[in-house]
Formats: sequence, C-alpha cells, structure tokens
Amino acid sequence: MQRLQAFKFELKPNGDQARDLRRFAGSCRFVYNRALALQQERYTTGEKKLGYADLCKALTAWKADPSTAWLGEAPAQALQQSLKDLDRAYANFFAKRADAPRFKKKGQSRDSLRYPQGYQLDQANSRLFLPKLGWLCYRNSREVLGTLKNVTVSQSGGKWFASIQTEREAEIPVHQGTAVGIDLGIVRFATLSDGTVYAPLNSFKRHEQALAKAQRAMSRKVKFSRNWKKAKARVQRIHTRIANTRRDYLHKTTTTISQNHAMVCIEDLQVRNLSVSASGTIEAPGTHVRAKSGLNKAILDQGWGEFRRQLDYKLAWSGGHLIAVPPHNTSRTCPCCGQFAKANRQTQARFACVACGFEENADLVGAINVLRAGHARLACEVSPAGGQQQEPTEATQSGSMSD
Ligand SMILES: [Zn+2]
Repeated sequence: MQRLQAFKFELKPNGDQARDLRRFAGSCRFVYNRALALQQERYTTGEKKLGYADLCKALTAWKADPSTAWLGEAPAQALQQSLKDLDRAYANFFAKRADAPRFKKKGQSRDSLRYPQGYQLDQANSRLFLPKLGWLCYRNSREVLGTLKNVTVSQSGGKWFASIQTEREAEIPVHQGTAVGIDLGIVRFATLSDGTVYAPLNSFKRHEQALAKAQRAMSRKVKFSRNWKKAKARVQRIHTRIANTRRDYLHKTTTTISQNHAMVCIEDLQVRNLSVSASGTIEAPGTHVRAKSGLNKAILDQGWGEFRRQLDYKLAWSGGHLIAVPPHNTSRTCPCCGQFAKANRQTQARFACVACGFEENADLVGAINVLRAGHARLACEVSPAGGQQQEPTEATQSGSMSD
C-alpha cells in the first residue's frame, strides 16, 4: 500500500526569515490574483482560458516588467505552484466539485506557499532548508518517514508551520481487534456496541461565549485601527483554539477505536446533506429550518464527517475495515427479538421493546444494530481495506467536512 502522510511542524523563523515569509506569501497571492483576473478578462472577451504552461509564460513577462520586477525576489517554483493551484481550482469548478475560484484577500485567506522541490530536511539538527530563505529551525516533535514529496509553509494564529508531504510503501498489518458498531449522536458523541461512550466535545459551544464577546468587542472598534487589529487577532486566536481542540479530540478518539477494533461499522449518514440543506433552495425551501440548523450546528461542531474520514484511513493503515451501513431503523429494532416498532423508542434516550420487554439505552441499541447490519453486509460482500490512503491535508484540517 502506498501511504501518503503529512508531517506538520511549527517553524521558528528569525526576524528576517519571518519578514521574507510574509513577503513571499504575498507574492504568491499576487500571482494567483493576477492570473485569476487575466482568466476572467479572457472569459468576458470570449477568449479561451489559458492553460498552466501559458500562465507560466505570463508570469515570466510580469517578472520582466519593471513595475512588478519584485516578483523575481520570491522563490520561482512557489509562484508557479500558485498558478497550479489556480489551474486546479478551475478544474474543480468545471467538474462541479467547487465554486468558481475567488480572489485571495490579505488577512482573510491563509498565507501560504508550497515548495515542490529544492528543500532539504535535516532532522538530526531540527532544521529545514527552503530556497531563498535558508535554514529554518522547527519544533521537532516526531520523525518524518518516507520520501519527501513537497513542503507547504503556512501561517496560522500568528505562527508559521511547515507541512511536509511524504510517500512510502507500507505493509498492511493483520489486525487482531474485534468488531464493533458505532452510533453517533448529539447527547453522546459516539456510543460503541461494547458499551464504551465518548462524551460530546462541543468545543465550539464551550468557546462560543468567548468568541461572541471578542467579536462584539471587535465590532465596536474603528476598522483598521490599532485596537481593531488587536481585537481581530483575539478573534482569530479563539478560532484557532476551537479548531485545535476539536482536531485533538477527534484524532485521539479515532486512534483508540482503530487500534482496538478490526471491523468498525458506522451509520452511513449523509453528513453533507444534513449540514448543507436546512435552508433549502428557492424551488424547495427547507422545512423546520430553525430546528435543523440547530442540529446542523451541533453536527458540524461534533465533526462527524471528519470522524468518519479519520476512522477510514486509520483502519486501513492498521489492517482493519470501516463498514458503512444504511441508517434505516437502527434505533427502533429490538436487538433481542428483532421486533421493529416506533413505540420501542420511548424517549430520545430510552429503548424498551414492546414485544419482549428488553430495555436499554437507545444509543447502545443503535450501536448494536449497526454492528449487526455491518455483519450482514459483510456476509454479502467483502471490500478489502487499502489503496491510497491519505492523512489530513491542510484543507481538511481547517474544518471542511469532506470525507
Ligand atoms: Zn424485543
């Protein structure tokens, strides 16, 4: 199995390096925006969109132009990678996977630059060489494994990070764990069919008040003033803290589950549908919009989609399987006698079978039924784990729900 993995470290640039990083990231953003403007202009005049090679030619011309000659100071390959990003953004747009590319605004889009080559990693001395920046120290928290593919440098919460993408051949181990079913919920984040319960994190809820307060404080300041910038930095720090807490929690939970269990069954919830369509469209306005958007907020806060994505690749790494089962009736069928009745689910939390009298927590019943449905599916078809599995990328870490 080809295993792709990203190793992320905090960089410790000196003053000059930090200034250059900001400058280079600014140059990359400039190139991206200028190329986007060029493509839009060609569209309005009915001309064909430029390909990547033509954009690179345009970039060479901009560097030769005295008014934008400063672009020559930034690492050339990183600038070309911005053009590649734009090309990919268009491809995603035409394939209906994403919205049309938008201009990157300073302070709003994350500052970043990517080096496809030219870097050197010196793990023994905890330093990373980047073209036009020299050697940068980094916080060496773990060993980087595999062949280096590229390095992305980005800024978040006032700090610089390097994400090192690697690839390596990895054996798929034989998993010794057991099979388990999982019920995902709001009151309990995850209930396992063996009785394990993971409490909800509600990282957003916990920080919500602090965030609201910081946002109010910011709105009272004069825009772009010194105090406004301070207040804005505070809002961004809280956002970063929320994202970090959630990521840690999800990683810890999915690591434990994938280590203990070889087969994990989960309800095939359409997280994207649940979380996107509450307000509906003009043709089909959503029903119970307010109640649903409350539920959606809770789902997004819990990160169900990200939970499933992490379980999927971690199980594949450890030789296990993730099995998604249709979510029908898992909460209303008696695991004891198989009786299916709406009345079985007396309250949100309590399950009591009207036929045999079996009583249990409703989430646990759901998890047991999910496991059972998983076994049934496995009897029909066996899908091997493996193939290309990828660790979280920048995009998925920043909270997108894609799985
Ligand atoms: Zn029963």
